[in-house]
Order: sequence, then structure tokens, then C-alpha cells
Amino acid sequence: MAKRLAILGSTGSIGTQALDVVLAHPDLFEVEILSAHSNATLVIEQAIKFRPNAVVITDEHKYEQVKSALSNLPIKVFCGQEALRDVVQWDTVDVVLGAILGFAGLHSILSAIDAGKVIALANKETLVVAGALVMAKAREKRAPIIPVDSEHSAIFQCLVGEQPQSIEKLILTASGGPFLGKKPNYLVNVKASHALQHPNWSMGNKITIDSSTLMNKGLEMIEAKWLFGMNDEQIDVVIHQQSVIHSMVQFTDGSIKAQMGLPDMKLPIQYALAYPQRIHNDFKRLDFKDFPKLSFETPDYKTFKNLALAINAMHKAGNAPCILNAANEVMVHAFLQNKVGFLEMSEMIEKVMDAVDYIAQPSLEDYEKTDHLARTKANEFLKKSQLSIY
Ligand code: NAD
Ligand code: MG
Repeated sequence: MAKRLAILGSTGSIGTQALDVVLAHPDLFEVEILSAHSNATLVIEQAIKFRPNAVVITDEHKYEQVKSALSNLPIKVFCGQEALRDVVQWDTVDVVLGAILGFAGLHSILSAIDAGKVIALANKETLVVAGALVMAKAREKRAPIIPVDSEHSAIFQCLVGEQPQSIEKLILTASGGPFLGKKPNYLVNVKASHALQHPNWSMGNKITIDSSTLMNKGLEMIEAKWLFGMNDEQIDVVIHQQSVIHSMVQFTDGSIKAQMGLPDMKLPIQYALAYPQRIHNDFKRLDFKDFPKLSFETPDYKTFKNLALAINAMHKAGNAPCILNAANEVMVHAFLQNKVGFLEMSEMIEKVMDAVDYIAQPSLEDYEKTDHLARTKANEFLKKSQLSIY
């Protein structure tokens, strides 16, 4: 029987690629739920094509538009965040793909876990912010969490057939982004349009900026810590510019396993949706002769301060990664509008980290408050710095 999917964030980079995977395997997958925030036009188009049981549009202003466009079809239309939390629990949903961006994805994932659904997780911020809570609930409800992030999918694939106690360390690879090797005197002037040009991966805007600052790798270290139950010291990062090794696991006998392939997010998406099956596709294959040299180097933590800040937050734990994430979401949004400089983003995130109270063992409510407070502080600092320019 085909797996029935709830695709949360269907209009995004991951969401649209997931629909490509569904289209290529109509015998294996069926779309039960589509959700989008505000791109009504695209979600309407997707609904007409994939005929889900329901569509959720979280931006309430777009509800009438979606509702009336789909009124002739047997498709239920809901709006708001609460509706999202409801539909993921439906009996007709087998797998929930979490492809919403940022903290906004947390509640729907927790709700799906509560109902014991299989979670294909792209939304890394969910684990960054509340990894302890999410993983504890997933264990309690026996909800499997299958990573979609390419590095974590690589590690997950390397771990098939292995015992957790045989893992010595995880080695996350990072392409280094468009500014690899650049120094502060160069970075001080870079603009969003420049940072959006990722050399190897085509992704949504936020994660593309995070890749250029290396914040993405920091978030992924925290994501890996929770997903695979590692100590901080067991997670390493190496810059590997070619992006054909998607990550590695080193075992207690010194053996290292890597998962490789050309960079294409459809592969980890397909793996997570089809798991535990591995299914065929006709994506372009990796030819080693096209990559006569694979390179590996240490990240420049001094220049790319966001990575150091994320590692710090990981060590601090508690609500520290939640503060980091909220401040970063605000800064990336501002950077995309050219309202803050590339290097300034790290300065401001550091200030927000100092300005919000630390909580060692936060509840869900504490995470919500922390997120809110950190965003308020981040916006205050932004305003102040803008005033001082003019
Ligand atoms: P995107 O910006 O392209 O899409 C985001 C999706 O989330 C859209 O469908 C949007 O409608 C929805 N959304 C945004 N804000 C929302 C809100 N407040 N409430 C409900 N829905 C909302 O982002 P993306 O690049 O597809 O990334 C999605 C997630 O997957 C992120 O957490 C990202 O880190 C992760 N991820 C992405 C990639 C990639 O290649 N794009 C790779 C690895 C991990
Ligand atoms: Mg990744």
C-alpha cells in the first residue's frame, strides 16, 4: 500500500522536491496533506495536481483565496497553526515530512510525534531548539525520526546494521559555502545577493545564508547530537569543498564509513520517505573521474564566528541553542533585506545570547518564551545599530 504523506511546507525548496519524488513513485506515495504559509498560488496548483485530502494555509489572510480556488474539489481547506497540529494526527497520515522553516515548525512536529507518526525531518531548527524534549517524546511515543538533512541522512545510512556503542565520532562535512577562504576585510562588504550563490546546493534562502556564514553547520552539529544521542566531543566538522561525501561515521575500531553521491536533496528526501526501503531513481550518478581530488580542511572558526557561537550554545545546552536560533532567524531575515552586515550578524547574535536569561532545563513554554524574548532583543539591537548609522 502507498504511504500517505503529510507534506508540511510543501511550497518550499524541500517541499517541492518532495513532491517531485512523489510524482516519480505514484505506486509508493500518496499526498494526504499539503501545508504552506503564504504562497497560496503554488499550494493551489499543487493541490489540483496531487489531490490531497486537506490543505492547510497557515497565513489566515490567504484562506479565502485557497478555499475558493479549491471549492469544486473534494479537498478540505483549513487555516492557522492549530489546524496544522490537528491534521498531522489524522489516522490517514502515515509519514509527516517536516519541511517548514525555523522555529515555526516545532509545534506541528511535536503534535505528529504525539500521535506516533513516522517523521521525515528536514526542519533542523526543531532539534536545535528543543532536541532533548523532541527526542524524549519520540522515544516515549515510539515515533521514528528519519533525517532528511543530507549530512544526517548520510550518517543514518552509515549506521544501518551498526550498534550505537560502536560509534566513536560523527564527521559532518561542510562545503564551506561561497566565501570559503575569505577573510573579514572581504566579508564586511558582502551582500545577500552574493551570499545566495551557493556553489553546490540549491536551497531555500535562509539555509543558503546559513551555509555562507557556517551557522548551518553549527545548527547541524546540534541536530546530530540529538538525533544520534552523541556527546558534544563526538561531533566533528570538516570542510570538504566538493560536497560528494555527505558525512561520515568513525567507529571504535578506527574504521570510517562515508555516504557519497552528487549533491541533490531529492536523494535524502526519497531515502527518508521510502525508509526502510531503498528505491530506484534516475538521478545523475557520481563519477569518481570527475573528482580527481577530494579536499579536507579545518573550518576557519575565527572568521566564521557563527560556527563558534553555535558550538558554544551546544556546550551550554538548556535554552542557549534556542536563543542562538531565534537571534539567527532574525539576523538572516534582516541580512536578506540588506539591513545588517554579514559580520554584524555574529556580533548581534552574541549580544542576544548574553541578553537573554539562561534556563538549564527548559519546558516547552520556556522555549516559547525564550524564542519570543530573543527575537525582541535581536530586533532591538538591529534598530539601535541602524539608528547609529544615520
Ligand atoms: P523554504 O523557505 O524554501 O520553505 C519553507 C516552507 O515552510 C514553505 O513551504 C513555507 O510556506 C513554510 N513556512 C514558512 N514559515 C512558516 C510558518 N510560520 N508557518 C508554517 N509554514 C511556514 O525552506 P527550505 O529551504 O525548504 O527549508 C525547510 C527546512 O528544511 C528548514 O528547516 C531547512 O533548514 C531544512 N533543510 C533544507 C534543505 C534544502 O536543501 N532546502 C536542506 C537541509 C535542510
Ligand atoms: Mg545539511
